[in-house]
Amino acid sequence: MDCIFCKIARREIPKEFTYEDADVMVFPDIHPVRSVHLLIVPKQHVSEFLTVSDPVLFQKLFTVAQKMIREKGLEDKGYRVTINGGGAQVVQHLHVHLSGPLNKTAII
Ligand code: AMP
Ligand code: ZN
Repeated sequence: MDCIFCKIARREIPKEFTYEDADVMVFPDIHPVRSVHLLIVPKQHVSEFLTVSDPVLFQKLFTVAQKMIREKGLEDKGYRVTINGGGAQVVQHLHVHLSGPLNKTAII
């Protein structure tokens, strides 16, 4: 399948992972919007948020997001966890953005 995140998961595109387990990979966004901008991605192809039928996948992704927030020291610095969908996403493979630090007054 011609999906960039599947290619990364299959190691066809070299990528240093910030975190990896059997189901989830984490790597820095190539166009970071904050000093920390990670993508938390299921290794298996899932086209978007609405197509997730297994709640365990949410649990895995968000548990890893919590771990990354703590490891990057963002607990009290402001962070944002975002999923784009419904055509707002550029990459058609589910991913969770984690970005920070985030000023409390920042709107974007
Ligand atoms: P979205 O609009 O939610 O689909 O965002 C996709 C994100 O993936 C963008 O922020 C891109 O900068 C990022 N991205 C695309 N290709 C790569 C890549 N090869 N490695 C890391 N990040 C990527
Ligand atoms: Zn994919």
